[in-house]
Amino acid sequence: MLVMKFGGTSVGNAVRIREVAEIIRSRLPEKPVVIVSAVGGITDKLIAAAKKCAAGENSENELNEIETVHQAILSDLGLDKSLLQDELKSFREILQENRDSTFDAQQMDAVQSFGERMSVKILAAYLARTGTAAKAFPAWDIGMITNDEFGNAEPVGAAEEKIKAGLKGIKEVPIITGFIGKTADGHITTLGRGGSDYTAAIIGAALHAKEIQIWTDVDGVMSADPRIVKEAHTIDTLTFNEASELAYFGAKVLHPKTILPAMRKGIPVRVLNTYNPDSKGTVIVSKRSGNGQLVKAVSCKKNVSIYHIHSLRMLDAAGFLARIFNIFRDHKKSVDTITTSEVSVSLTVNNAEGMEPIVEELAKFAEVRFAHNRAIVCIIGEQMHENPVVPGKALTLMGRNNINVKMISQGASEINITLVMDNTDAEKAVQLLHKEFF
Ligand code: ADP
Ligand code: ASP
Ligand code: MG
Repeated sequence: MLVMKFGGTSVGNAVRIREVAEIIRSRLPEKPVVIVSAVGGITDKLIAAAKKCAAGENSENELNEIETVHQAILSDLGLDKSLLQDELKSFREILQENRDSTFDAQQMDAVQSFGERMSVKILAAYLARTGTAAKAFPAWDIGMITNDEFGNAEPVGAAEEKIKAGLKGIKEVPIITGFIGKTADGHITTLGRGGSDYTAAIIGAALHAKEIQIWTDVDGVMSADPRIVKEAHTIDTLTFNEASELAYFGAKVLHPKTILPAMRKGIPVRVLNTYNPDSKGTVIVSKRSGNGQLVKAVSCKKNVSIYHIHSLRMLDAAGFLARIFNIFRDHKKSVDTITTSEVSVSLTVNNAEGMEPIVEELAKFAEVRFAHNRAIVCIIGEQMHENPVVPGKALTLMGRNNINVKMISQGASEINITLVMDNTDAEKAVQLLHKEFF
């Protein structure tokens, strides 16, 4: 059994959908279970429509665009014009019900769910019309039960068994919504933006798939974001650890949570290109390939915030650290990178959301300075720990190019080196580092 996930660009128009159908057909002997994202750009439009509506503005433009894009696909593929009537109508109704009032996280998840609910119906109907028995499923119908962290939901413990049972005995090719689920009491949730990759991994792990394939619009995981570094190359093999660091520190090609379910079950994840289906892509496995390559990739994550926390010397070093991290834990705020000395800690967080009460509590025993619009630039490679040259080279390179590094840290696993700098320096730094190490 094979899990195949197709992203938004891969189902972005009728031409792409035909291509995807061919790719699925070519894998039929491997019993594909297919996960699909919303048609490219639709999730953003659903959100934009809801926001306008909440602000009392006219959202007719967004609504029309959403309808036109889908109708054009239906007509190009020769499918029934009324196929998505129920979804489009329900979406209009939700907007109507919430006019002039803010949408809370739960309602925003319901809003965002429509993209995937429509794309699965299109792909399944097209496959069926062209001779391949296929059936569309909202993920909750095949067991994707999550907790109620709207906007960032996680499958509950029982989901794995439910998914296994939910897909048992289905004869058609299942075409399942990525990104969305439902709580046990029936509220729609989302797994976070870009979360269809995570859906694929969760379902792949539940079914003990032989491989989890992430089909996207580039040839695989590359040595840097190809939009930043023109010369970036496709990486043949990555370890689970390398891939999860890379995803966590900005490589959009994989949702950061994708790796864990696959790693737990030892299932290879392969990243492939729908525009170039014959290329072998990148395979992510547990074992190191040992090709001697020190650095595998460079990535960057922009718009992070940095906090410098300096002890007022009322605590010993151990108490100081414990107190800081307890506060972050109590506020459920995760920290990305950290450096410490006896009396101070510098750390970065994804964004400053929810930081105000944390700073207030920290200020009771420490002096806190912070800055926004920072970027984390990350150098990744599992073999870096065997050779100590990389951090020195990286810092010298930054210094020579007048890039002010505000913080440097190396993960305990020595898979990554992170440099924190101004947002405005990030792209140049990625380009320089890529040139230096490849
Ligand atoms: P999908 O819609 O298929 O999920 P995404 O847009 O989420 O696709 O992810 C693919 C994009 O990720 C690529 O088009 C590329 O611009 C970007 N990207 C960023 N870093 C990398 C990287 N290291 N390797 C490959 N792609 C990357
Ligand atoms: N459609 C969702 C998003 O745009 C999920 C995904 O594409 O993976 O975030
Ligand atoms: Mg994606």
